[in-house]
Amino acid sequence: MEIAIIAHDGKKADMVQFLNKNKNLLLKENIKIIATGTTGSRAEKAGFKVKKMLSGPLGGDAQIAARVAEGKTKMVLFFKDPNSSHAHEADINMLIRICDVHNVPLATNEATAQLLLLSLEER
Ligand code: PGA
Repeated sequence: MEIAIIAHDGKKADMVQFLNKNKNLLLKENIKIIATGTTGSRAEKAGFKVKKMLSGPLGGDAQIAARVAEGKTKMVLFFKDPNSSHAHEADINMLIRICDVHNVPLATNEATAQLLLLSLEER
């Protein structure tokens, strides 16, 4: 199962911590991680295997949205920073809309991301 991770700059450290916390579950469920560029690099440095898209501002969110639309990415864990604004806000909103269009689970904060990952164990 392919899931996408994205973290805004103020949330990247939280994302790495989240991945480490869920390492066993990610392995057990055989989860393939894709990510926006910089988030993916941070995850790689922490020892995770990640397929990296472009950085968010360069179209990475849009690439992930395309994979959601194509049915390849089955879940999106997006650690949004509600206290910063982004030049690529349009892409971010597009990704959220595409998840809704295709009924793909999307978390926009860590607590929801945790619940979504745990739900995989119960399938
Ligand atoms: P990044 O992109 O992982 O390349 O920083 C995230 C985003 O801003 O959408």
